[in-house]
Amino acid sequence: MKSIKMVDLNGQYEAIKGEVDSALDSVLNTTSFINGPAVKEFQNNLQEYLNVKHVIPCANGTDALQLALMSLNLSPGDEIITSNFTFASTAEVVLLMGLKLKLVDINEETFNIDPSSIENAITSKTKAIIPVHLFGQSAEMGKITKIAKQHKLQIIEDNAQALGATYTLKNGEMKKTGTIGDIGTTSFFPSKNLGAYGDGGAIFTNNDSLAKNTRILANHGMDKRYYHDLVGVNSRLDSVQAAILDVKLKYLDNYNERRRNSALRYSNNLKGINNIITPNIPSDSQSHVFHQYTLRILDSKRDSLAEYLTKNSIPFGIYYPVPLHKQKAYYSPEVDNNFFPVTNKAVKEVISLPMHTELSIEQIDFISEKIIEFLN
Ligand SMILES: *Cc1c(COP(=O)(O)O)cnc(C)c1O
Repeated sequence: MKSIKMVDLNGQYEAIKGEVDSALDSVLNTTSFINGPAVKEFQNNLQEYLNVKHVIPCANGTDALQLALMSLNLSPGDEIITSNFTFASTAEVVLLMGLKLKLVDINEETFNIDPSSIENAITSKTKAIIPVHLFGQSAEMGKITKIAKQHKLQIIEDNAQALGATYTLKNGEMKKTGTIGDIGTTSFFPSKNLGAYGDGGAIFTNNDSLAKNTRILANHGMDKRYYHDLVGVNSRLDSVQAAILDVKLKYLDNYNERRRNSALRYSNNLKGINNIITPNIPSDSQSHVFHQYTLRILDSKRDSLAEYLTKNSIPFGIYYPVPLHKQKAYYSPEVDNNFFPVTNKAVKEVISLPMHTELSIEQIDFISEKIIEFLN
């Protein structure tokens, strides 16, 4: 058996090496490294894949979130609601923009933002909600959209972990996550479901004026060259990354299907084992694309299981060990720890198992066997 990796970028590259290398060659030959044809081509293909009017590529997923916030014309002190259980970027950009961060608790089964906690956190200053489709699973966009409409809030979907996932609306319409709210953002960090060979990100929207605003903001606030209408930033996807992403985009559905099949096998292996709660696998087959396969381990056994996995050369991840409200940088004395019973529990219970496109059945079975051996 091949040694087990948390993410196997090498194996994935080997499988598409010919295509990637020739895409790279062609960028090197054009030397159009910034805003070259490869960027436009990838942008158009991603628009088509997502069935969204505008894709604005940018430098990374954190910039994408910041640009989304910048495009909404918010004022300092405006409140933004997001999940307490997510990667730091989501909170970081809110604070960097001088906005007020309102963290809320999560749903115990999905680890996603809890709609009723959103409702409780809304005040007259609330302007936007940032649901995060955590671990590859869509947040409850039906309920969130309803709340946003009622209170006239905007929705920025942080889709960094769920590119290619879908959500079925009440009327039966299926939409790709990231295209349901006002703006969606994603990251092409190498280990994400659609990963570049460096940094990259993008913003999606169906709103023409938001798209125009975002595109201008990402390019030093200029619409016409050297005429700066807004204070912007420099955030671009480069042609090398775009060319690689364009090759990999064709495989995204297949990659996501492989992740889902691995998840199903893990869950089947671990069914009925004491002190394990396997992740929610929605019946709507594409609404979870398993960026992570995350177990909850009960009875305070998580850390000792982690040690046991290490002893057996099985890598794992703890996403995330500290809730955002307890991070030094984001700590605020007015935030009550008792607001987050589910998040506080999740940080002690979660463990993510190896999950990538190259994982073999043999590896999944070995990992499962070791977990069962330890917990039985
Ligand atoms: C990865 C990630 C980001 C940030 O993306 P970068 O490209 O690394 O800046 C933002 N939000 C979530 C939920 C992420 O997982």
